[in-house]
Amino acid sequence: MKSTLSSTRKVHSCNACLNIINHIIMFQQEINQYLTTHHYTRIDLKAVLFDMDGVLFDSMKNHATAWHEAMKQYGMSLSREEAYLHEGRTGEATINIVSQRERGYEADEEEIKRIYQTKSDIFNQLPKADPMPGAFEVLKKIKADGLIPMVVTGSGQLSLLDKLNHYFPDIFQREPYLMALQKAGIQANEAVVIENAPLGVRAGVAAGIFTIALNTGPLPNDVLLQEGANILFPSMAAFNENWETCRQSLQDTSL
Ligand code: MG
Repeated sequence: MKSTLSSTRKVHSCNACLNIINHIIMFQQEINQYLTTHHYTRIDLKAVLFDMDGVLFDSMKNHATAWHEAMKQYGMSLSREEAYLHEGRTGEATINIVSQRERGYEADEEEIKRIYQTKSDIFNQLPKADPMPGAFEVLKKIKADGLIPMVVTGSGQLSLLDKLNHYFPDIFQREPYLMALQKAGIQANEAVVIENAPLGVRAGVAAGIFTIALNTGPLPNDVLLQEGANILFPSMAAFNENWETCRQSLQDTSL
């Protein structure tokens, strides 16, 4: 469990009183900590791995509303805020956590399908999510820097993993970041992860990748920091504004 002081220090603030040198020192401290923990001498940045919902697109509010409304139709209570905590879980797992809590038993296969279909129908009726402000700008900078931007999604649509979990329960885990590293042919210290979800931060950290949290939803910062986020920005716009400083620190810091 990280201390409050440490957590506070990791939260990047846009206050004018924090000058660029302070930012560099903060980034370097966190990078040093990462390098020490993972026994690397430096981060040789080649790729930036972006989550999609709540990072590239402002779509989490729609997912949260869809989950809330769908569960209500089946007599179960799932608040919008709780939906943010479940982001990255399979639909089946989310439904069963709520069903166990609310009714004391798990939904059967047919009901899971119906609830998930209801959730998807509501989601599809909502206005299309806009790109997150600042996302296009930072993606352009990352490309111009010669780095590879990659999208890694644990998006809530019915996925192959849901099917696998149905036929082979508790065998497969969602490992999007490890898979992304494999696909790009790079090591964990050659990428950074950009995530908004607690489970996504956990996955980035578990893959051994320097993980930058963007708190674009209603959860407290500590929820993301306690999952091991190395740095936290309050928005994609703040990440975009600080990209150069961040990249420079990642490039220059070594043990
Ligand atoms: Mg997300």
